[in-house]
Amino acid sequence: MTHPSNPFPRIGLGWDTHQLAAGRACVLGGVLLDSPLGPLGHSDGDAILHALTDALLGAAGLDDIGTLFPDHSAANKDRNSAEFLGAAMEKLGDQNLQLASADLVVICDEPRIGPYRQSIRENLSQLMNIPVDRVNLKGKSTEGGDDNRVTVQAVVLLVNA
Ligand code: MG
Repeated sequence: MTHPSNPFPRIGLGWDTHQLAAGRACVLGGVLLDSPLGPLGHSDGDAILHALTDALLGAAGLDDIGTLFPDHSAANKDRNSAEFLGAAMEKLGDQNLQLASADLVVICDEPRIGPYRQSIRENLSQLMNIPVDRVNLKGKSTEGGDDNRVTVQAVVLLVNA
């Protein structure tokens, strides 16, 4: 538990990567992207929400997403990853922690992230209940080196509520 007099902010780092394959819906950041390939995974494979959830849990000093939501559990099969993020946000509230800001890098050649950047930001701001100018996201290409994969880095800053 966070000591009430502890004034220090907490930083959290999350990282995730998923292979992209045919026949999977391409949901990233909770937004459906127009793409013939989507992330493989036990859940919906939303690498943006997974990296963000892990960043939040890490900053709060909690177990990681794989420990809290194991990929061998039937309960998590095809699960909407917004539920993982929601559970992490609830745990922050339990510790009187509040999200100050989040920043993400999404590394993916296809689909291009740029056209969806603003809608993903807006969706993340709604899911985490913070203003959109406190959630940022950049799409990066590897110029063909990503081997049909989406990789995400997320950093968050938590402060005492
Ligand atoms: Mg994942």
